[in-house]
Amino acid sequence: MDLVIKGGTVVTAADHYQADLGVQDGRIVHIGSDLAGRQVVDATGCLVFPGFVDAHVHLSLPVGGLVSTDDFRTGTIAAACGGTTTIIDFISPERGQSLREATDLRRAEADGQAVVDYTLHQTAVDAEPRTLRELVSLASEGYTSLKLYTTYAAEMVDDAAMLHLLEVARDHGIVPLVHTENHAAIEHLKARFLAEGKVEPHYHPLSRPPTVEAEAAYRVITLAGLVGCPVIIAHLTCRETLAAVERAQQAGQAVYAEVTPNHLLLDDELYDLPDFEGAKFVLSPPLRDRSHQAPLWRALARGTLAMVSTDHCPWTFADQKQRGRRDFTRIPNGAPGIETRVPLLYSEGVGKGRLSLHRFVDACATTPARLYGLFPRKGTIAVGSDADLVIFDPDQEVILSHATLHQNVDYCPFEGWTVRGYPRTVIVRGQIVVQDGEFIGPAGWGQFLARQPFNW
Ligand SMILES: [Zn+2]
Repeated sequence: MDLVIKGGTVVTAADHYQADLGVQDGRIVHIGSDLAGRQVVDATGCLVFPGFVDAHVHLSLPVGGLVSTDDFRTGTIAAACGGTTTIIDFISPERGQSLREATDLRRAEADGQAVVDYTLHQTAVDAEPRTLRELVSLASEGYTSLKLYTTYAAEMVDDAAMLHLLEVARDHGIVPLVHTENHAAIEHLKARFLAEGKVEPHYHPLSRPPTVEAEAAYRVITLAGLVGCPVIIAHLTCRETLAAVERAQQAGQAVYAEVTPNHLLLDDELYDLPDFEGAKFVLSPPLRDRSHQAPLWRALARGTLAMVSTDHCPWTFADQKQRGRRDFTRIPNGAPGIETRVPLLYSEGVGKGRLSLHRFVDACATTPARLYGLFPRKGTIAVGSDADLVIFDPDQEVILSHATLHQNVDYCPFEGWTVRGYPRTVIVRGQIVVQDGEFIGPAGWGQFLARQPFNW
C-alpha cells in the first residue's frame, strides 16, 4: 500500500473504532490492524475523521466592482489547513449571460488552482428557455445542485421563475439551495434608514430582521411543496425560519437547512463595535441576537439543521469594507471562515457538549456529501472511498488569529478565540497536503468532482 495511517481512532457519522487505514491509488483499500505501507503516518492519540466538506463558499466572487479576496488557490489552502478537503463554490452568471459560458469561466478560475477537490453549484437568475436547457445539460455533467436567490438585484428570481426552476430541478435530480430573504422588505427598510441618516453597521441587521428571512423561507418551502421538489434553505439564522423548516419536515416534506458557524457563535452586538469594526460582521442574513443561538445548536444536534457550511466570502477590512463607511448598504457582504469551521464546531460543539462526535462528522462531512451527490466517494471512511482524511489532535489548543490563519484577508471574525482540537495532518486522495498546520501539498492537487443526481 502507498500509505498507512496507524493507531488512530477512526470516527464516522455512525461509528468509532481503533483501526489502521490502508491507502492505495488515492483510495481507502483496507481497514484493519497491523497494516504496512511505503509511507506510514502515526495517528496514536488522534481522531481520524473523513475529510470535511464545505458546501457553500465564494472564492473570487465579483460583487459591484470588488472581488472577494481568496481565490481558488489561497482559499483551498486555507480550507485544507482547517481540515476541509472538498469545497462547493458557485457558477455565478450575470443577467443575460449563458449558464454554460459562466460555467466555463468559473472552471477556468478553479482548474489547476484548487488544492482540494471541488465542484460548483449552478445558479439561475432567470427561467428563460435557454437557462432551463442549460440547467439540464449541466446536471448531466455532474452539476447537480442549483442556487436560487429571493433577494439581491443581480441574482433574485420571482415566484413565477422559481416555480419553473423548481420543476426542472425536480425532474432532473438537481437539488435547489435557496437564499431566503424578502427583497422588497429589505429595500424598504434600507431606504428608510438611509433617509433618516442612519448609516452605521448597527442598521444592517435591523434592515433584514428575522421575519424577513422567515417569510421568504416559508414562501420557498411552500413553492417547493407545491411542485414536489426537495429544497435546502441556505444559512438559516433564526428561530422564525427554524419553525418554518420544522413544520414542513414534520409534515413529511423534503426540506433541509444549512447553518454557519457565524450564526451559531456570534451575535448582533458586534455591529456596535467602535471604529467601524462592525463592518467586519456585515454578512447576510445578518447575525442575530444571542437568544437564537441555543435553539440553532439544538436543531443542529437533532438534525433539523442538516449541515454546517461557511458561506466564506472574505473582504478586507482596511480597504474593501471601508466602501460602506458612510453607508452600511455599500459594505460588501460576507466574512471569512473556510479555515475555522471544523476547529470551531469541534471545540464549541463536541467540546462543550452541544454535539455528539458523530453528529459533528455528519453535519460537517457526511450530510453535505450525501445531499450534493458526493457520497460515498466523499464524506465517510470506508473501503472504496477517496482517502480524504483528517488526523485530528483533540487536545491541541490554538488561538485563532488572522495573522496565523491562511485565509487571504486582514481579519478573523473569531480573533483571539481559543479552540481545543485541531487538524494535525490532512490528506486528500492519499496525498498529505497539510502537516502540523502548514500546507505542504502539490500546487493544483484538487480535482473537479462530477456529482450524482440528488437522491436522499
Ligand atoms: Zn453564499
